[in-house]
Amino acid sequence: MQGQLAFDGIPERLTRVTPAKLTTWSSCPRRYRFNYVDRPRPARGPAMAHTTLGAVLHNALRALYELSPGQRTPSRGRELVNRYWQSEGFAGTEQSAEYRARAGDWLADYVERHGASAEPVGVEKWVSATTGTIIVQGRVDRIDHRDGELVVVDYKAGRHTPRVGDARDSLALALYALATRNVLHGRCRRVELHHLRTSEVVTWRHTADSLAEHRERAERLAHESGAAAEAVEAGEDPDRMFPARPGARCAACEFRRHCPEGKRAVPEIEPWALLGE
Ligand code: SF4
Repeated sequence: MQGQLAFDGIPERLTRVTPAKLTTWSSCPRRYRFNYVDRPRPARGPAMAHTTLGAVLHNALRALYELSPGQRTPSRGRELVNRYWQSEGFAGTEQSAEYRARAGDWLADYVERHGASAEPVGVEKWVSATTGTIIVQGRVDRIDHRDGELVVVDYKAGRHTPRVGDARDSLALALYALATRNVLHGRCRRVELHHLRTSEVVTWRHTADSLAEHRERAERLAHESGAAAEAVEAGEDPDRMFPARPGARCAACEFRRHCPEGKRAVPEIEPWALLGE
């Protein structure tokens, strides 16, 4: 069932969540605590080059889709990468220049294949929806209007080329679809991952049931994380309520310096190690 806007029987207290918050809780409660519970927030580690690269590409695409279709040319895409380029996390000027050129090529290819045809009705648009127990809000990279329906577009800039299962299983994409429908008042079942390195697009079309499953999962995760925070406020041990969940992800975790379990799990990596080829 679509994200019900529950004004019948409004619960006493609604929990405000973002997809990022819920997925952080789901992947590692300790990281969730560092990011959203502990105040002051523990210092983060150094900037990672792959994160910088992703931010540059997102900024360039935001600017690109603020232009009219005729102005969205491959050369304009390259120009926007140059305009928004940053070097935090790269090994030095040589590596930064190499990736700046690559990113320009990626965006030029993407514009060539997808740039002019899209009809965005939202770019980096904030959307939200209230379900039975939570208010979900988040910023969607792009919302298109295609074939009479709204389409949620999420950009990916990493080494991994997304597969259909990534779009199908993404809690964030499903919640964005629910919130987009709520804010823009149109049918929204289709979600897409656009891989900027390859210009590949993977698509998943949700059903009412699959959206309901994601919504129920979101409500459960919000409930679990909220209960853990309340238990700590009531005097429970934070390490017990927010257990570390060490794994490969610890190599790039921004809080690993505060996490003995994460440091033991995998060796530290250089800030540019996840750039890929
Ligand atoms: S280093 Fe690993 S276990 Fe520790 S908070 Fe980060 S992701 Fe979690």
